[in-house]
Amino acid sequence: MISEIAFKELLRNLDAHKAQLVAVSKTKTAEEISVLYGYGQRIFGENYVQELREKARLLPNDVQWHFIGHLQKNKVKYIAPFVALIHSVDSEDLLHEIEKQARKANRIVSVLLEVFIASEDTKHGWEQQDLIRFMESFSQEAFPHVCIRGLMGMASFTHDESLVSKEFSQLNTIFNQLKTMGKLNEFDTLSMGMSSDYEIAINQGSNMVRIGSMLFGSRN
Ligand SMILES: *Cc1c(COP(=O)(O)O)cnc(C)c1O
Repeated sequence: MISEIAFKELLRNLDAHKAQLVAVSKTKTAEEISVLYGYGQRIFGENYVQELREKARLLPNDVQWHFIGHLQKNKVKYIAPFVALIHSVDSEDLLHEIEKQARKANRIVSVLLEVFIASEDTKHGWEQQDLIRFMESFSQEAFPHVCIRGLMGMASFTHDESLVSKEFSQLNTIFNQLKTMGKLNEFDTLSMGMSSDYEIAINQGSNMVRIGSMLFGSRN
């Protein structure tokens, strides 16, 4: 577990780039999360719906839970009533399901669209051309209970920093392109960067990083 001094140092570095921290707490216990909560952290990210629900019950109400993992349509109903941001919307079908469950929960759910930017095909997300086409035909009236706040992406898993940098820069370009389209009122969030590559990400315009192992120690 990171020390409070090192945590505050990380926050200062992120603040200097106007980047928000999502503390990725997957596989970590409520006790471990409480330590960071004690340092003042309120945004936590989880990858599994069941795990997220259990932890949300155990931790204080002012925690903002972000869902960052691959989301199956049949699980949306379990998180729609309380989730603060879903980072991983990778299809139009999923967006429709979120609209449906958000309406039932009588709230507007904030989401990011996940874009495929890596040069390996193990990751999820929209192909760039499909995303541009989708956004061109997008109409907010069709999704009154969804707020698309921005984009999320994961770079290739590699030591090649110039490749990672190029992939993040590419995502930033798409982000600005969609912003310029002007269809979305609150399109302001670019979620990219994890423990190993967050510094590259904030240099390429990320304003939300998702960091796990650097805070909590490595996962088994
Ligand atoms: C696990 C995970 C992270 C955090 O990874 P670390 O390397 O532990 O910082 C970030 N984003 C997603 C989507 C993840 O699944």
